[in-house]
Amino acid sequence: YEAKFGHHGVRAFSPALDSILTERRDLEKAMIHALDHGGFALHYQPQYANDGRLSAFEALLRFPHPVMGMVSPARLIPIAEESQMIVALGTWVLREACNQSMRWQKAGLPEVLIAVNISAMQFARQDFAHHVAEILEETGLHPELLELELTESVMVKDFAESTRQLERLKRLGVSIAVDDFGTGYSSLNHLHRLPIDKLKIDRSFIQALSEPNGTLPIVESIIAMAHRMGMCVVAEGVETPRQMATLREKSCNILQGYLFSPPVEADRAALFLATGTNPRLTSAELT
Ligand code: C2E
Ligand code: MG
Ligand code: MG
Ligand code: MG
Repeated sequence: YEAKFGHHGVRAFSPALDSILTERRDLEKAMIHALDHGGFALHYQPQYANDGRLSAFEALLRFPHPVMGMVSPARLIPIAEESQMIVALGTWVLREACNQSMRWQKAGLPEVLIAVNISAMQFARQDFAHHVAEILEETGLHPELLELELTESVMVKDFAESTRQLERLKRLGVSIAVDDFGTGYSSLNHLHRLPIDKLKIDRSFIQALSEPNGTLPIVESIIAMAHRMGMCVVAEGVETPRQMATLREKSCNILQGYLFSPPVEADRAALFLATGTNPRLTSAELT
């Protein structure tokens, strides 16, 4: 202990570390304030079926901070998890996504699946499924229009309990997607026993698709495996026409990425909803 922190004991923190901690504390405070004052927003990124039809929107958290600018959810979520705020924030995200979907429906736009990211701490709560049921009832969203995205590590942490939780969720009628597939513990022996509807292949595999010694064999195998288990496959982070062409050729069901659109505000997403198909995927040329 002493070797690590030196003789001065209490003066363990460097000024640099101190300012990181201060910034983190400020951010946490700003988040608590935002939660009560409508300071968070959701953006929506379209997912297209390989025939070009709009398949879903993924809701992604956004935090426009007056000084720090747009703070990434990759930064927000860990802070929210450490401070227990994640449960309240996660509830806000879920309710807002469901409400937005209903607003689109009420505006006469077609129904579309909405995918919401769920953190480990939300999923671990005994009453999570009950909570989801309450939000569905309160907002009036049909359960079949809601998809929950969970990472592999979240699902296999306490396998028996996760299985029960997923089964409760499935009974509600919502669908389950495995997010960032291939990056967590790839406990394939567990996966086939869980009630999973979709695998989302992590962006890193899509990016390295056409490199020499790239990930094509892995991506092909994931697609084949998922299909044999009756699951649907989503590719995340599709950025180039070449990636798109390869994924379509390999029968990847759904594509999501900057090539089609970044996450956008609800009003812009409504335009994608009204159009219904993506021209990149409906035009005949594949490259
Ligand atoms: P994710 O669920 O894997 O979401 C996909 C991330 O990739 C999003 O980043 C999206 O903007 C980005 N992305 C999409 N297409 C492309 C592409 O073509 N290229 C590149 N480079 N990136 C692309 P974002 O919005 O910054 O979110 C990061 C992560 O934060 C999410 O990863 C998710 O794990 C987490 N997150 C976001 N919103 C929420 C939320 O409401 N609740 C929870 N628990 N986690 C969230
Ligand atoms: Mg996701
Ligand atoms: Mg993902
Ligand atoms: Mg990801």
